[in-house]
Amino acid sequence: MPTVNAYAAVSPTAPLQPLTIERREVGPRDVRIDIKYTGICHSDIHEVRGEWGEAHYPLAPGHEITGVVAEVGAEVTRFAVGDRVGVGCLVDSCGECDACVRGQEQFCSVKAVWTYGDTDFDGAITQGGYSTQIVVTERFVLHVPDALPLDTAAPLMCAGVTTYAPLRRWGAGPGKKVAVVGLGGLGHVAVKIARALGAEVTVLSQSLSKKEAGLALGASDYRATSDPATFEELAGAFDLILSTVSAPLPMDDYLRMLAVGGAMINVGSPPDESSLHIRLLNRQRVLAGSLIGGIAETQEMLDFCGEHGIGAEIEAIPAEQINEAYERVLASDVRYRFVIDISTLA
Ligand code: NAP
Ligand code: ZN
Repeated sequence: MPTVNAYAAVSPTAPLQPLTIERREVGPRDVRIDIKYTGICHSDIHEVRGEWGEAHYPLAPGHEITGVVAEVGAEVTRFAVGDRVGVGCLVDSCGECDACVRGQEQFCSVKAVWTYGDTDFDGAITQGGYSTQIVVTERFVLHVPDALPLDTAAPLMCAGVTTYAPLRRWGAGPGKKVAVVGLGGLGHVAVKIARALGAEVTVLSQSLSKKEAGLALGASDYRATSDPATFEELAGAFDLILSTVSAPLPMDDYLRMLAVGGAMINVGSPPDESSLHIRLLNRQRVLAGSLIGGIAETQEMLDFCGEHGIGAEIEAIPAEQINEAYERVLASDVRYRFVIDISTLA
């Protein structure tokens, strides 16, 4: 099996290190992609550090992948060598169950295969985009619109669809007041997308340190959640609260900021489960989760971002700075997505 250069974790505590990983030969329906950029999602850190349970090591994370098609299998019809493409959190599913047919491959009743650290249909453990190449079945490869540069488009593959899907599903649009909690990788893309959908956006961040930047992304208000007055002043203010926070949140405090019938959607995936609260039922408020998005939805998101010129705000880094980037992400010192320049791995 061909091997490729990668950056991978060998344990939950060791820094990531250069390593080679195997990629399968290109099958009839496979696309081999030369990876150009891979975003660092906080999920990579949760997974690498075993915060969601035991991981498979060695583990090359990365599910915000953009690149160029290098080879296609004989039966591939939607892609050609040279196409600009992306791969997100999923690399396979059964394709036939109700969930797959509905375009919700992440809920495949047979098996949704996650881009890294998962067992593929052939029994191999999947490896992600902190690597020079990936081989993915055509159905899970996305077209990146020409209007989107590959670097700023990379974070859209997870951060984009993870925020776009619930914002669409819960009706973010003109006349709706949307709060985005946490201005990190997901949060900053959520602000851009919610604004582009026509909603009025407020950022709820731990402090006001990123206020100017948050307003520049399209928010019309920016409040610090470290200030108790925020929760008082914004009681009942929002139709939608989208939490992208990577740590457990005092959900009750946030639910108070929902309007009647408002919905709080949590996409943050902290290690500890948060508790539900009575406020969910007493004003018919909704607390919902959202898990990435399906493939058709992902393409819809990419096309939407292409039309609106939406890409992530990124800091491109060479591979040897991955561990440093992790520490900065953990310290909320990210503006707003680190993206690995994969040419530094070659
Ligand atoms: P990130 O860039 O680290 O952003 C998270 C933001 O949350 C931080 O920038 C910070 O924003 C805020 N925050 C961090 N710690 C906090 C604390 N203790 N209290 C309050 N706020 C805090 O992470 P990300 O890549 O956007 O990912 C965010 C979360 O979503 C992660 O848990 C990730 O695993 C999860 N995720 C879920 C899905 C899904 O499908 N549901 C998909 C992708 C990622 P401020 O500095 O503005 O306060
Ligand atoms: Zn992610």
